[in-house]
Amino acid sequence: MKLRKLKSGWWSLCLLPAALLLILLAGCSSGSPNHPSPTGNIASDAVHDYGQNIHSSLEAGKKVECQSDLQQLRTAIQMQKDSTGQYPASLADLGTQMTALETCPSSGRPYQYDPSTGKVWCTTPGHEKL
Ligand SMILES: [Zn+2]
Repeated sequence: MKLRKLKSGWWSLCLLPAALLLILLAGCSSGSPNHPSPTGNIASDAVHDYGQNIHSSLEAGKKVECQSDLQQLRTAIQMQKDSTGQYPASLADLGTQMTALETCPSSGRPYQYDPSTGKVWCTTPGHEKL
C-alpha cells in the first residue's frame, strides 16, 4: 500500500515535465502569427488577400499591355502619316501586324481612332489617359 502510493507519485513527477512541454508547445503554436490555424480567419483572410493581389496584378499587367499596344499603334499611325502625308483612314489600314492590337487586352473593347487627328485611345474605365 505504501509502496504503491510512492510509485504513483514518482510517475506524476516524471509526467509533469512532459505535460508542461506539451502545454508550452500548444501555447506557442496557437499564439504564433506565423503559423495560423488553417481553419482560422487569419488564414482565410490571407488566401482572400492573395487572390485579390493576383487579380490586381493581372489587371495592372493588362493595363501595361494596353498602354504598350496604344504606343505601337501611335508609332504606326505616325509612320503612316510621315510616309503618305496623311493619317490612315482606319486602324485596319495599318496592316495585318496591327490588327491584333485593335482591342484592349483588359476589356476586349476596340480602341477608338480619329482619322482626322490621328489620335487613338482606349475606352476601358481607368485606361482613358494611357
Ligand atoms: Zn485598355
